[in-house]
Amino acid sequence: MKKNESDAKTVLNRLGKLSSFLKDLDADAENDDCFNYPLEIIQRTMMFDISVLYKVSNLIEDRLILEVVKVLDPKNYRLDLMEGRKLRLFLDARDKRYVNEVNAFVNKNVSCINVPGMGCDVMGYVFFPKECGGAYLFGGDFFGKEASVKDFEVSTVEIICNFLSTILLKTQFKQQAEYDSLTGLYNSRKIKEELSRVLKRLERKPALSASIAMGDIDFFKKINDTYGHIQGDLVLKEVGKILSMSMREYFDVAGRYGGEEFLLILDEIDGDRAVQIVERIRKKIEATQFLQVNKSGKVVENQFLNITMSFGVAHLNNGLNKGLSKGDGSAPDTLTDYIGRADNALYTSKQNGRNQTTLFSD
Ligand code: GH3
Ligand code: MG
Ligand code: MG
Repeated sequence: MKKNESDAKTVLNRLGKLSSFLKDLDADAENDDCFNYPLEIIQRTMMFDISVLYKVSNLIEDRLILEVVKVLDPKNYRLDLMEGRKLRLFLDARDKRYVNEVNAFVNKNVSCINVPGMGCDVMGYVFFPKECGGAYLFGGDFFGKEASVKDFEVSTVEIICNFLSTILLKTQFKQQAEYDSLTGLYNSRKIKEELSRVLKRLERKPALSASIAMGDIDFFKKINDTYGHIQGDLVLKEVGKILSMSMREYFDVAGRYGGEEFLLILDEIDGDRAVQIVERIRKKIEATQFLQVNKSGKVVENQFLNITMSFGVAHLNNGLNKGLSKGDGSAPDTLTDYIGRADNALYTSKQNGRNQTTLFSD
C-alpha cells in the first residue's frame, strides 16, 4: 500500500500532538504513573477503539509471559485484557488473538498481521533496557474494521513506541535521581530538597509546625564485620521497608541521609508528638527479626538478627528554636541548623546508651 498525501498529513498531525504531550509530561513532575496520560492521548490521536500496554514479564522456553499494564477500552470490547492479568503466549502463536503481540516481540518491531475472522490490530515493541526492567509492547485495535490498518498507522505506532521508550527512560532517570537504590527511600539530595520545601512553607506560615528525626543504626559496623557486607545491606534494606511502612501510618517522608543514617520529616507534628512516633518506630525495629544470610548472601535457616537504632528529633518551628518565627529581623534558621540539631540530639541518644530517642533542646 502506497502512502498518499493525506496519510502523510495525518501522521504529521498525530505526531505533532504526541510531541506536545511529551513536553507537558516534563512539567508534570508529580505524575507517578507515566503511562496513564500518554496512553489517553495516544488513544485519542490514533483513534483506536482499544489500546493496550503490556510489560514483557518473562520468556520461559517457548512461552512469552506478558502482563497487562494498562488498557483503554471504553466500550469493553476486550474483557480478556484486564489490567494486571498475565498472558502466557506460545511463541509459535498458537493463539490467533495474540499473533501480533508475539510477532512484535520476536521481531522487536511493529506487527499488524491480519488474522481472518479476528480482525487486524497493530502492536509495537517498546524498547527499555533489561537492567531497567525490560521491554513493553504497545498497540491498539480498530474494532470492527477488519484489515483496515493503513501504512501510516503502522509508522505512527512505530514512532509512538519510540516515544514511550523515551518516556520510560526519562521516568527511570528521574527515579534514579531521587531514590536510593538499596532502601527505596529518597536519597540524601531529595530528602534535603523536601526539607527545604517544608522550611519555606513554615516561613510563609509560622503557625504551622513540623519536626525532623535523624536515625542511625547502632553498632552497624559490627554487623558488617561479623556477618559480612551483604548482611549489612540486607539490614539497611529491611530498615528502609520498616520506615516506608511507618511513613504511610505516621509521617510523610523518609530518606537515606548517609550510610546507615536516615532522615524523617514529620510534617504538621510538634516535637513531643514526633518523639512518640519515632519511639514507636524504634520499638518496631528493636522487635524485628532480621533474616540472617551467610557471606555469599544465602539465607541461613532459622537464624535471625536483632538490631537497634538511636534517634534525635528536632522541632522546626517552636519558640525554643527561635529561627523561623523569631520576628526580630535576624536571619531564619537554615536547613543545616535544623539537621545539626537533630544530629546533636542523636549524639545524646548514642552517649546515653543507644536504642533511644532524644528531643533537641537548647
Ligand atoms: P554507632 O552505634 O556509634 O552508630 O556505631 P556504628 O558502628 O553504627 O557506626 P560507624 O559510623 O562506626 O559505622 C558505620 C558503618 O556503616 C561503617 C560502614 O562501613 C557501614 N556502611 C555504610 N554504608 C553502608 C552500606 O551501604 N552497606 C553496608 N553493608 N555497610 C555500610
Ligand atoms: Mg551507626
Ligand atoms: Mg553513622
